[in-house]
Amino acid sequence: MIGTLTPGAPAIEFGDPRLPENFWSKAEVATSGCWEWKNTKVQGGYGRFGVKQVLKMAHRVAYEALIGPIPDGLKVLHNCDNPPCVNPAHLRAGTQAENMQDRLARGRNPAASKTHCKRGHAFTPENTYIEPGRGSRQCRKCRAANGQRRRQRNTSTKAMEGIAA
Ligand SMILES: [Zn+2]
Ligand SMILES: [Zn+2]
Repeated sequence: MIGTLTPGAPAIEFGDPRLPENFWSKAEVATSGCWEWKNTKVQGGYGRFGVKQVLKMAHRVAYEALIGPIPDGLKVLHNCDNPPCVNPAHLRAGTQAENMQDRLARGRNPAASKTHCKRGHAFTPENTYIEPGRGSRQCRKCRAANGQRRRQRNTSTKAMEGIAA
């Protein structure tokens, strides 16, 4: 699916005149189909490009020039998971939460291979508990539910204590 445009959308070509020459000279077409930014990498591998003296993220510049304004509060995400890529066909606007989901799903965070616990709660930053010492992830919702069940058992049937713990 990577690299395909929405049917009916005009194909955007590398070197599109809506962006200046010195934008395109800093990027190159990779065999993967990505348009990779070659210089001024910042943290995370994103490219930066100066617009009227202001350095902006290169992929955001590409999105705004070739696709349209970035909706308020949204980030420009890479469908190709390649931060220096400025190919508009690989970019979409999305939320920070989606960005985190993408990262978890793609395993960039090595501790995070699954995006959901076995009961289907999402491992969002808020819902993820890292067990001290072991570093394994636990679902906070499930931890809370387990704790509640344990307390209920303790108060109702003293005799059951310890059996299921
Ligand atoms: Zn790409
Ligand atoms: Zn859970």
